[in-house]
Amino acid sequence: MVIKDVDTSRLIIKKFALEGFNVQPKAIEMLSSLKPGEIDRVISRVCQLCAGSFIVTEKDVKKVLDGLNGNRCTGLNRRKTEKMKKHVNGVNREKMEKITVKNSVNLTQPIQVLKDVSGKSCCQGKIEDFVAYFNSRYEKLSSILRTRVNPVPISALRRLKSQNIEVVGIVNDLRETSNGNAMFELEDKTGLVNVVATGKLKDVAMELLGDEVIAVSGMWNGRCIIADRITFPDLPVNGNGKKGWGFYIAFISDTHFGSTTFMNDAWQRFVDFMNCEAGNEKAHKLAESIKYLIVAGDIVDGVGVYPNQEKELSITDIYSQYEFAAEQIEKLPKRLKIILSPGNHDAVRQAEPQPKLPEEFASLFPKNVIHVGNPALVTLDGVKVQIYHGRSIDDLISKIPRLSYEKPQEAMVELLKRRHLSPAYGKRSPIAPEKEDYLVIEDVPDVLHSGHVHTFGTAFYRGVFVVNSSTWQSQTEFQKKMNLNPMPGIVSIYNGETAARLKFA
Ligand code: FE
Ligand code: ZN
Repeated sequence: MVIKDVDTSRLIIKKFALEGFNVQPKAIEMLSSLKPGEIDRVISRVCQLCAGSFIVTEKDVKKVLDGLNGNRCTGLNRRKTEKMKKHVNGVNREKMEKITVKNSVNLTQPIQVLKDVSGKSCCQGKIEDFVAYFNSRYEKLSSILRTRVNPVPISALRRLKSQNIEVVGIVNDLRETSNGNAMFELEDKTGLVNVVATGKLKDVAMELLGDEVIAVSGMWNGRCIIADRITFPDLPVNGNGKKGWGFYIAFISDTHFGSTTFMNDAWQRFVDFMNCEAGNEKAHKLAESIKYLIVAGDIVDGVGVYPNQEKELSITDIYSQYEFAAEQIEKLPKRLKIILSPGNHDAVRQAEPQPKLPEEFASLFPKNVIHVGNPALVTLDGVKVQIYHGRSIDDLISKIPRLSYEKPQEAMVELLKRRHLSPAYGKRSPIAPEKEDYLVIEDVPDVLHSGHVHTFGTAFYRGVFVVNSSTWQSQTEFQKKMNLNPMPGIVSIYNGETAARLKFA
């Protein structure tokens, strides 16, 4: 993109933001080439044209320009335009600046994608990539821990006599010792040390997945550390403290469009509810108060995801699956802003972080849809939502006996404690070693939303609403064999005060 005038393009972005739109670079380029007086007029026409969607494209701008060219500015119109310009230059700019000063991140745009690998992936799987990846994980998480502990570098231990110390490191090689204690290695950038956990602390240690970053406080005896405390990065006690934001966000996932087990009737009931075509006045009011809908992955069933999948597909071609998905999403009301994030069944790379859907599929969806990667951290009118499909929940449930598929929210709480969406490297959930670890939960979200396990559960953990949002697929042959019982057709809604579950199956 070549934009001659950076200030002009910034102003264009701001103007659209104030009206609730995101604007594509090509559209900005097109608008920047206009005379200053014309820009505002075109913007206001574009906003009228795009009501209901929230991305302004090059095509939208072109449509308006083509219309205007057939209707050249008369003297009167020109004066009107001047008036409008004054308005934008005076009142609106003041308003814009106020908003920017108040909160430069949250309020300038209704939807912002704060963290997402889409378009930024650069890993090639070289050794250096793995080193950089783990350094990033260590740096991000140890800086959270350093606000609460005072660690010494592990290499410095050699020179120290027996004493109480604190260290921060990445967990390796956890095992139970012959005398019934837990032992693991802790590694920082300077070295490795063995840690022994006994008594009650052994139970805490035995739930470590490996590769998480923790702090250990304890007695250094010249050979190892006898731990008396294990500190997780965890969340602040009251989270962000944000309450009641005046609109609902609806959470769904795992629609699996294209599968023979897709629950069409339940889905149509949900569509009717959202369009205020079902239920009573109260139901209509509730539906109208839902401003955003987030889909946390497995939008389609995909092709070739597991052996013999074709037997369980009603649509066997991936493009047609997304076409069907787009048709279904199109049925939802246009006032709704919809965020789609992919999962392991979608047509993006398997390793996390996954980028958003490629343009050939993304472009099939209506304009009130925004595509993000997995994971993605977004703010919706200032409400921070961490979206993560949830593949690592399998790792947690298989490792920690007290966790189960019936209560997926409990596994998600473990992710928050570790401030990491997929702590165990090299288990069932593949991770791409990007230079930056996108899976660290750096910002404290207001909501953590996952899917993947096809069960439903919500919890509040330290002020964060935790939701695993069910599925729209009934039990598959594979799930029958594995004795997995899905809880389909449930939608969770939350407004910062009240959380409700709506059942459509
Ligand atoms: Fe799924
Ligand atoms: Zn999945």
